[in-house]
Amino acid sequence: LGLRSYPISIQSGATSRTDKMGFASRLAEAIGDCTHVILIQDASVAASAGQAIIESLPHHGVRVSILEVASGEASKSTDRLTDLWGELLACGTDRRSVVIAVGGGVIGDLAGFAAATFTRGLRFVQVPTTLLAMVDSSVGGKTGINLPGGKNMIGAFWQPHLVWIDTDFLSTLPTREYVSGLAEVIKYGVIEDAEFFEFLESNIAAIIRRDPEPTRLAIARSCQSKARVVADDELETSGRRAILNYGHTFAHAIEATAGYGAMLHGEAVAIGMQMAASLSVDLGYCDAGLLTRQTALLEAAELPRSWPEADPAKMIPIMARDKKVAHGKLRFVLPESIGSVKLVGDVPEENVVAAIQAWI
Ligand code: NAD
Ligand code: ZN
Repeated sequence: LGLRSYPISIQSGATSRTDKMGFASRLAEAIGDCTHVILIQDASVAASAGQAIIESLPHHGVRVSILEVASGEASKSTDRLTDLWGELLACGTDRRSVVIAVGGGVIGDLAGFAAATFTRGLRFVQVPTTLLAMVDSSVGGKTGINLPGGKNMIGAFWQPHLVWIDTDFLSTLPTREYVSGLAEVIKYGVIEDAEFFEFLESNIAAIIRRDPEPTRLAIARSCQSKARVVADDELETSGRRAILNYGHTFAHAIEATAGYGAMLHGEAVAIGMQMAASLSVDLGYCDAGLLTRQTALLEAAELPRSWPEADPAKMIPIMARDKKVAHGKLRFVLPESIGSVKLVGDVPEENVVAAIQAWI
């Protein structure tokens, strides 16, 4: 199944360095000889990250094809994928070609799935340009697209040969997108890295300012955290990977009732983590101090902690349909202490209602 390890390279300075060789040498190490690369890029980063990647490639001996994808979730569609396959064919892609995905999670998922399927699999490289893509979607090997009736319904596990992250690419990211990505960063601290949670408590102001060094460290620690969890359960068989869904059962219901697009994913995850922590306190799995620390960190990160429109009557039916439900019982990832969570099945509905109501 091609489960191999791959390097994740994290640095700062790609757009200011004059030699711009960081990427080219990493690519050569990860891929070896390659004479054709296809850059699949988000239209909104073509002039920044896309340009930096193109300039860093050797000027001789490498043919570069550039394919552009419109920004937004709508691009993760069968229609766009079909066109992309046609564009790959038209630019002379063969099994030795290498796909480089430059953009957020939408581009990584779409380009990764195109790479997984074209001629039964092309080597591919992730260059994530959103914080969410850097700390979450580019690590773990999941690629895919949406169907009109379901998000991420079509996909494949397809590992990149290299993930190349540069904090410079974040400089153009809108504040709301950046802050939304911080919810997943904080999540890693709660689920499995108490020391990282403390680091975030001490450095959140600098991370909000996007100071390169603490930001780079936060991204590195997040990638390590996700990689550890995924390595334990690469194909989602043991259940360990489910801990990455901390806050997400509530978040998916919040996103669905708010209407997709009204709230960013990380914003819903922040509120969902508050509800999950309240549920855990209520059920006696953790003390209230955990909730106090999580609330303070989310607040310092400028993330929302409550949602006035939360309606248990609308959210619970959606949660019951969520894939985290085992045999019709509501199942949650609940914190026991900072850095440790457990999966709890069979949670009584009245406690779930109370947890939602705590953050209205
Ligand atoms: P996104 O790719 O839509 O990017 C968010 C917005 O930021 C877009 O408008 C994009 O054009 C813009 N953008 C990207 N980089 C920019 C930059 N450097 N400067 C300015 N603008 C920039 O969304 P996302 O939040 O990165 O990813 C969300 C997607 O990731 C969803 O489709 C989700 O399903 C997927 N995802 C996948 C995994 C996985 O394991 N494969 C995990 C989590 C999420
Ligand atoms: Zn998430």
